[in-house]
Amino acid sequence: MKYTALVTGGAGFIGSHLVELLVKKKLKVIVIDNLSNSNISNIKKLIEKKKIIFIKKNILDKKINLSKYKIDYVFHLAALGSIIPSIDDPVKYITNNFNGTLNILEKLKKQKIKKFVYAASSSCYGLAKYPTSEKNPIDNQSPYAFSKWSSEELVKHWSKVYKMPYISIRIFNAYGPRFKTKGAYGSVIGVFLKQKLEKKLLTVVGDGTQGRDYIHVVDVANAFYLSAKSKIKSEIFNLGFGEITSINKIVNLLMPTKIINIPYRPGEPYKSKANISKIRRLLGWKPTISFEKGFNDLIANINYWKTAPLWNKSSINRVTKNWFKYLK
Ligand code: UDP
Repeated sequence: MKYTALVTGGAGFIGSHLVELLVKKKLKVIVIDNLSNSNISNIKKLIEKKKIIFIKKNILDKKINLSKYKIDYVFHLAALGSIIPSIDDPVKYITNNFNGTLNILEKLKKQKIKKFVYAASSSCYGLAKYPTSEKNPIDNQSPYAFSKWSSEELVKHWSKVYKMPYISIRIFNAYGPRFKTKGAYGSVIGVFLKQKLEKKLLTVVGDGTQGRDYIHVVDVANAFYLSAKSKIKSEIFNLGFGEITSINKIVNLLMPTKIINIPYRPGEPYKSKANISKIRRLLGWKPTISFEKGFNDLIANINYWKTAPLWNKSSINRVTKNWFKYLK
């Protein structure tokens, strides 16, 4: 029997990798995406080959009609990303991410969903002790973090009242092909690759000793798939590689290059690292792509980065100013 999966945000960075995996696994796939912070080119071939159904709609849209499909699995990834713009426009972020999640849940209430897999964010831990387990206290530091975490609470609540099995995956720093670099708030890997290509100075925050837990998007997609298929339900999983990669290490992988040091963004964690023992134990998932391998693959496809816009000096200043404003 062919199962049907709904992927919100399926044209995005993680979503499009997940869609590819689901198609490979022979599921019927429906994508909802309004292309506001994603790219149709990520799934264009699959649409043209009629491998997936594409619905161009905002998750807030009351006119979304899913009643004609019998949906087995839902992967809810659609959301506005980026911490700093959310501080400038909290209403937009909370409305879109929370009410959007509510709308999708409401549209699916009458369906017998086998599993609702929610893409949560490690930002809910704030300035956490690491390695960070799922039991770590919640300490949202931005409207973005709050919107993602409160939507997770919504999913949990829905699951309890309407008997909908769920898994929530708190993703640490995902990276890989089709990595988002748009606008001033691209992730550091995209920012550095673009700067390197344009022979500009790499903007290293602080002394570069800080770091993040980078997990390759292929491993992320696999975790989502396993979450849907598993009998395990009503669980939250942290998802990372379980190792810290420092900013200086990324700089070294891009050598020869020159750097400029810029100020810390107040409120950002110094280091993050996921404790991934729970997802390993319950789902049998494990990361397969080391940072060196994943990063070198990205460099091998460096042409992609030529089209990405760059952080400029004024955006860096704006970022720092806004953080201070928020924390006052
Ligand atoms: N970072 C940096 N230069 C930049 C942008 C970011 O050195 O131009 C650092 C930042 O201090 C942080 C890390 O890169 O330690 C990851 O930042 P990013 O914005 O990619 O992710 P997040 O902080 O949201 O985890």
